[in-house]
Amino acid sequence: MPLLVSSILEKAQDFKATDAYIEPSVDKVQLCFRVDGVMIHVADLPRELNPNIVARFKFLANLLSYRQDIPQEGRIKEGSLHGTEIRVSTFPTIHGERIALRLFRGENRSFNLEDLGLEIEVFRLLENAINERSGAILFTGPGGSGKTTSIYSCLSHISRAEKNRRHIVTLEDPVEQVLKGVSQTQVSPSNGFDFALGLRSLLRQDPEVILVGEIRDSETARVATEAALSGHLLFSTLHAGSSCGVISRLLEMGLEPYLLNSSLRLVLNQRLLRKLCSRCNGGACEICNHTGYQGRFLLVEAMVLCSEMRQAILQRADKSILQGIFKSSGGITLASHAFNAVKNGTTTKEEVLRVLGPSECMAFFNNHSDVL
Ligand SMILES: [Zn+2]
Repeated sequence: MPLLVSSILEKAQDFKATDAYIEPSVDKVQLCFRVDGVMIHVADLPRELNPNIVARFKFLANLLSYRQDIPQEGRIKEGSLHGTEIRVSTFPTIHGERIALRLFRGENRSFNLEDLGLEIEVFRLLENAINERSGAILFTGPGGSGKTTSIYSCLSHISRAEKNRRHIVTLEDPVEQVLKGVSQTQVSPSNGFDFALGLRSLLRQDPEVILVGEIRDSETARVATEAALSGHLLFSTLHAGSSCGVISRLLEMGLEPYLLNSSLRLVLNQRLLRKLCSRCNGGACEICNHTGYQGRFLLVEAMVLCSEMRQAILQRADKSILQGIFKSSGGITLASHAFNAVKNGTTTKEEVLRVLGPSECMAFFNNHSDVL
């Protein structure tokens, strides 16, 4: 079994997969990889192998082999397998345990702001915001849209630029990668150590730059805002479909509009899209595993609050009104960034539709159909 498990991992590396899934079903075990955000079916294995594969991963990740009835999570540390750190999570199904692996490759570890590939105006907005000494910089986007990489790049940038003169701390769930010059903490909500409690305690440690993994509830929103207003530069993420959705979500959580207006510095809404393969340009070749795509690029919508937006927030205007103000103030939406990326041949309309969905971009594409 060690051989089969290491060949699965080697194959995942060959594919440059970010995740691997081992899924038992009625008659087989399906092996799938996620490559550039897209699921690829790689192989079917005999069903009877599943318990042994699971047992091997549990052994490597220090999980409880005798518990097959609960979800478990652990890590295979860097160095034990090809220099790649792996997060292992198991989940019981009626056909046996399912395994999801997240592969953290060493080469992504430098986290440079310049490497994010942001458009120049977005880069400037972000750079200005992170040079400040207080205020909140919030990121949104679905899981796997690169939010952690963006925030890690900001923290690393601050750490390098300030030569460790600013005290940078994080509260994460989970800690995805270890950052130089940053004091990282993993919260444990099941033990009562959640983001809100962690943040309140952390403020007594005199941090200057803080990452709170996610604002999920009104208590965290309130404490995070207080931190951002009292001389801390605060980074966090929120689940919302758009930049304006972040504002609506915070208002729904009960945050006072005037506090939101005075604390919020920048909202970034991001997605990762696949780039056309540079070798075959959308055809099929060895380099792109015959998909036509190779690598990904970041699409980012950045929003700072203009005076009209602040006024609308004070009146608790709804999302569609905020969205209208954002567009009329010259804000560049995800759809318009995506449109440019298709126009200059970075990606395809199909890829934009896959990631943004039809409602987000169809109107935009139809209005500009003459250009494509
Ligand atoms: Zn190709």
